[in-house]
Amino acid sequence: MDRWTSVMYANSDALFEVRMNDLRCEFGNVKGLTEYLDNTWLKNYNEKFVSAWTNRIMHFGETTTQRVESAHSILKLHLRNSQANFETLWNVVDGLLRIQHNNIKASFELSFNVVQHEYIDESYRRLRGYVSQRALRLIRDELTRGEDVGHDSTRCGCEIRTTHGLPCAHELNHHIFARSPIPLEDIHVYWQKLSMIPENLVDPSGYNVHDEIQRVLEKFHACTDEDDRLRIIQ
Ligand SMILES: [Zn+2]
Repeated sequence: MDRWTSVMYANSDALFEVRMNDLRCEFGNVKGLTEYLDNTWLKNYNEKFVSAWTNRIMHFGETTTQRVESAHSILKLHLRNSQANFETLWNVVDGLLRIQHNNIKASFELSFNVVQHEYIDESYRRLRGYVSQRALRLIRDELTRGEDVGHDSTRCGCEIRTTHGLPCAHELNHHIFARSPIPLEDIHVYWQKLSMIPENLVDPSGYNVHDEIQRVLEKFHACTDEDDRLRIIQ
């Protein structure tokens, strides 16, 4: 299984070939195994799950169906059996959706109002309160990786830029070197969506004024830095 896992996580064509060859050498004597892997999985679906190919598209980290499977499993747990009538089914699904909705809102509030100690560094100044906590975590990891990568894009690989729309290690090093905060424009809009308002319910001008004002007010009151406060109301 480890061999197959290493094939799935090969992040370049060359590495994929090397690891497949290793797998063929080790398990070539197991009848039908490599033919099964080639014909059932790799031939038609390699682009769907092998890192060498999935790293070339923007997927924001959603590379498995685990989220859906998990929701399905929780629903089955709450239903307890397959004999439920429509009313029971409705109530269970409704209850679960409400919990999920509240959890998502809570995560937005956290991203919006709470500045964690690890992100008080000046580098994060323009991102705090504007991007999700998950994006901040991924950027933090890239900053750590940048200590080995330097300014070399080849060495960097820029995977997080391609797959997540976030600044990669070598890009971040340019900002660190220039002693400038990471610009919000470097972050894909996907990570800046900290609201449950569907885009198609916002008025035609593109803004829900009430919510925008509320958002600015909350951000202003949560902020303690004078410069940041000025920037918010500008
Ligand atoms: Zn890079």
